Amino acid sequence: MDTLIIGQGLAGSALAWNCHWQGDRVKLLAAENLPTASSVAAGLVMPIYGHKYSIIDRFKQKLELAEGFFRHVEQHLNTDILFRPLRILRRFRDAEDRRYFLQERYESVAGWVQLQLGGDGQATGFVMSGWKLNVPSYLAQTRQYFQNRGQFLAAELEIATDVVPCFDQVQLPRLGLVADRLFFCQGAVGSQQWNPWFPGVPDHPLRGEILQISTECVCELSGAAVSSGGWDAVVDEHWLVPVEGVAGHFLVGATYDRERVTIDAEGSAGGWDGTTASGQKELSTSAQRLLFQGGMGAGQHMVVSHRAGIRAGTRRRQVLAAYHREQRRLGILNGLGSHGTLLAPAAAAELLRQFDGGCGQVREQTEPVVSGTVRRRSGLTEKAQTIVRRAVRAGDWVLDATAGNGHDTVFLARLAGPERVLAVDLQPAAIEKTGLLLAQEGLAGVGLVTADHADELERLSVADAGVWCGRFGAVMLNLGYLPGGDHVLVTKAETTVRALRAACQLLRAGGVLTVLCYRGHAGGPEEYSAVREEAGRQQQCQVDEIAAGTGNPTAPVLFVFRRNATVRE
Ligand SMILES: Cc1cc2nc3c(=O)[nH]c(=O)nc-3n(C[C@H](O)[C@H](O)[C@H](O)COP(=O)(O)OP(=O)(O)OC[C@H]3O[C@@H](n4cnc5c(N)ncnc54)[C@H](O)[C@@H]3O)c2cc1C
Repeated sequence: MDTLIIGQGLAGSALAWNCHWQGDRVKLLAAENLPTASSVAAGLVMPIYGHKYSIIDRFKQKLELAEGFFRHVEQHLNTDILFRPLRILRRFRDAEDRRYFLQERYESVAGWVQLQLGGDGQATGFVMSGWKLNVPSYLAQTRQYFQNRGQFLAAELEIATDVVPCFDQVQLPRLGLVADRLFFCQGAVGSQQWNPWFPGVPDHPLRGEILQISTECVCELSGAAVSSGGWDAVVDEHWLVPVEGVAGHFLVGATYDRERVTIDAEGSAGGWDGTTASGQKELSTSAQRLLFQGGMGAGQHMVVSHRAGIRAGTRRRQVLAAYHREQRRLGILNGLGSHGTLLAPAAAAELLRQFDGGCGQVREQTEPVVSGTVRRRSGLTEKAQTIVRRAVRAGDWVLDATAGNGHDTVFLARLAGPERVLAVDLQPAAIEKTGLLLAQEGLAGVGLVTADHADELERLSVADAGVWCGRFGAVMLNLGYLPGGDHVLVTKAETTVRALRAACQLLRAGGVLTVLCYRGHAGGPEEYSAVREEAGRQQQCQVDEIAAGTGNPTAPVLFVFRRNATVRE
């Protein structure tokens, strides 16, 4: 089979190797001067990341796949080790951070981390197992391998005019190429151009900056832990990782920005390379802190290089590994987000599994399949919790504005700590049930309030001269009636709108309000329309509307209000 692959970042390279190993005649095409994410990626793989200790779903399976893949590439290239283990130190910021990690995360990652104890026997942090891909070497050697076989072409395609899919082949007339199938692996930068086959992918690009620094420290990544403390890298919300083969050089990353998400092509007149003075300052400060935390001294460092790239993120945090619905010879591998090293091998294998190579047909898919890395479509209740879990930071207050049977209250109490949770409901029965459930779960300290949620939230937003405004990381609202309760007692459009306006006042920048609308009961569609209109009027928040995906007009809908960055904290 002749397979064309557009793009040679982490996605295109993983796909090229997989196709090659299964006997395809691969042709890799990539533009040379585009600012790709892979060219700046540090190649870091960690089971836990970010300031909230996010955990990668099914990390073990993904890691096994990635490790097998990179070992196979190393053997094929007969090269030095490209993918190596790392011991990564993470120190707790403060007592609240330690409590959050130990209570919320430790159990599910215990196999990957080793707690570090201080003199008083309290955990001061942990060392976790991680991995690092030497990305520049992997990409350069992959390119060289295919180039030596006449299977690499440096070219920038105008997708709308250059790619012509036909019944039994795909043609690229301008380049005189024909293939049985073609895969787009263009990352985020490719989406700056129009791809009519997969428009709007990826839909959540994130710009990131990274520094290479040099220090007096003589650490060099060698496969074994290099620092005197027994770790190779240090992380908190940023990371500091040694550069392979260059003693005293580290990569420090990365920033996140979803506002300015275009970078100009290299060498374009007056073009912007994506780096900013504020990004450099943020990363330099972190470098200083991380060097100190890692016991590598508080000495000066010099910035050797400062670069930026755009991560191909998706709103649903899903890797897109799918075929076009009508043009079955066109496929896409995109949306690797911040985890291209870990996710690309599994996603590439998944994409090829969907294609029945013998007859050139794609097996029926009901929706774009996402590599095993991504959670399947879940219920909206679970989705709301996932969104809240990602938004809440240690020390945030959270509010369940419709306590109901208490499930969201319990979820919030586990997430933020019971003493940081308020739960409100008009029905005494609901407050009672919530209290019982909390007691069963051993969660004491939640503030339970029997009141109309609009009244209570408005009261809170003006109480104590507005001191509560901007202090909440999440507010959850479940509209409709109390499950198992009196169906006459339903939330009403007028009070719901008042409640959500007040809730937006309470949120801090980046905080979220989730509003789950049920439309199947009397008054439900009107309440949904009122929320929708309010969403359209909102100046303080960005609002997403997520449907249950059934196409049924009475199916539930989730609104997610995210507070803009201009709020006073
Ligand atoms: C600062 C930063 C740090 C990061 N650190 C890490 C990390 O430590 N670990 C990790 O796993 N991930 C990291 N990432 C994320 C990682 O970079 C991405 O997940 C990954 O690189 C995406 O790969 P890709 O192949 O999808 O896209 P890209 O790397 O952007 O590649 C796109 C390819 O498509 C080509 N292309 C696009 N359009 C065309 C066209 N029209 N014609 C021809 N060719 C075209 C480009 O030339 C390029 O070859 C980081 C990202 C950033 C920005």
